[in-house]
Amino acid sequence: MKENSIFSTIYENICRDTGKQNESAKLIAVVRILTLTMLIHSFVCCILISFTGHIGRLVLALLSLVLFLTVFVLSYRYSTFTSYCILNVCILIFTVVNVYYLGWDIGVQHFLTVLLVFVFFSKYKHETAKLLFALFLFALRLILYFYCKINDPVVSLNSDLSGAMQIVNSFFIFLSLGLIAYLFSTTTQEMEGKLIEYNRKLMKQANTDTLTGLYNRRRTMEYLEQLLKTPDTQISICLCDIDFFKRVNDTYGHDIGDVVLKKISETFQKRLPPDTFISRWGGEEFLLIFPRLNGDETIIALETLRQKIKEIVFDGGIETFSITLTYGLVEYDYHSDITTLLKEADEKLYLGKESGRDRIVF
Ligand code: GH3
Ligand code: MG
Ligand code: MG
Repeated sequence: MKENSIFSTIYENICRDTGKQNESAKLIAVVRILTLTMLIHSFVCCILISFTGHIGRLVLALLSLVLFLTVFVLSYRYSTFTSYCILNVCILIFTVVNVYYLGWDIGVQHFLTVLLVFVFFSKYKHETAKLLFALFLFALRLILYFYCKINDPVVSLNSDLSGAMQIVNSFFIFLSLGLIAYLFSTTTQEMEGKLIEYNRKLMKQANTDTLTGLYNRRRTMEYLEQLLKTPDTQISICLCDIDFFKRVNDTYGHDIGDVVLKKISETFQKRLPPDTFISRWGGEEFLLIFPRLNGDETIIALETLRQKIKEIVFDGGIETFSITLTYGLVEYDYHSDITTLLKEADEKLYLGKESGRDRIVF
């Protein structure tokens, strides 16, 4: 628990000052982590070289240490983009100076590959600039290679130190590459996850009614069109409407009316067969679609529902009350279109209203 909080405090500080608009919190964190890696690398080199007692080499390592320490401090002062550019330039200078002074054999030139990966993974969309930078790095590497082939390094290292530097450089190059790949890939995964979740929410919003959580009219039409394309099963459709709902609103208020709509929707979901498609067709009208049930089977389900809804006692504040619905039911005849079916259901519903409400007309 304690360890966790130490790590989260360090990470929070590494990501600090990234609240600016349009700036990526992850990129500045990568810039600072990479700078810290270079800083530790310089520190390890200082220790390694101090054993040999060679002042010239030690000064070089100390200068690198100061350079990356400055980059780290500046990253809290400047914008992410500026810090990112400063770090790139510093790694470039560091690599060129080290190859020039210490030669090709210690493997420091591979930090150019770290730069290449870092630049290509970054969020900035300057594709041409990235490509040109890659070409520049390639050319620089070739120049350094041929320079080292022709010239001896300024400072020659004995084979033990050269070997040790090769190991240290390899370790930090692999570490930097691993960190860049890991940190940026987690961003991509996080973003993909967020995008999937966001799309799911958008889809839900586009398909559902906000008050009741039932499917809306748009989604219902989509579902019906799909369902009637494969009409090898029995399908029944019921349009139902709350009786005298205007009176509920007028007597107990609109908020109580909303409570009624929600409770009725819950009752539909609880009492109807699990594969029933339940939608709020409009106002206080609902469309129920029963795939795989014929009219007679649907009547049995609707009758139970009708009774259960009648039994619900609503608290209207001044008094309690109950409500009823009228149901217009049609069975799919395998050739009618959606408009005809809905018109037929509406006519049945109207008949039910005319003949006294609180009934199922089939
Ligand atoms: P009938 O039995 O003939 O269906 O009578 P009714 O009063 O139910 O029908 P009418 O069409 O006259 O009234 C429907 C009422 O439904 C009017 C409208 O204010 C109310 N209503 C529609 N949508 C909502 C809503 O989201 N919330 C609330 N509280 N009321 C709504
Ligand atoms: Mg009504
Ligand atoms: Mg109505």
